[in-house]
Amino acid sequence: MTHYICKGGCGGVSDEAGVCQTESCPNHYELLEECDCADGKHGMKNDAAGEDAPMVVKDSNGTELKDGDSVVLIKDLTLRGSSTTFKRGTKVTGIRLTGNAEEVDCKLGGSAIVLRTEFLKKV
Ligand SMILES: [Zn+2]
Ligand SMILES: [Zn+2]
Repeated sequence: MTHYICKGGCGGVSDEAGVCQTESCPNHYELLEECDCADGKHGMKNDAAGEDAPMVVKDSNGTELKDGDSVVLIKDLTLRGSSTTFKRGTKVTGIRLTGNAEEVDCKLGGSAIVLRTEFLKKV
């Protein structure tokens, strides 16, 4: 599926064309680039270069997220493969980091789900 990414280093990804929303990013308010990768790597090389850099997981505001943090959803999210929708503003407690800086694991509505950090705000 086509998505739009920021090449400024903030890791911003959007489902819609737009501009970078990360204030601390050098490309803030610059147009996002279209990408249609399927692996979430956006065509970026994932080799040794970044290997020893610690992974930093950030919410939609660029605030660092850690295991056990509480976040709120900043948009309505529909659970893939179901009709369950979690409303914007829903609080999620006890998130767990994954190996992917753009995703966190959590429990919501009794099920274990994966949330994209771009839709989260730390509380
Ligand atoms: Zn950016
Ligand atoms: Zn991509």
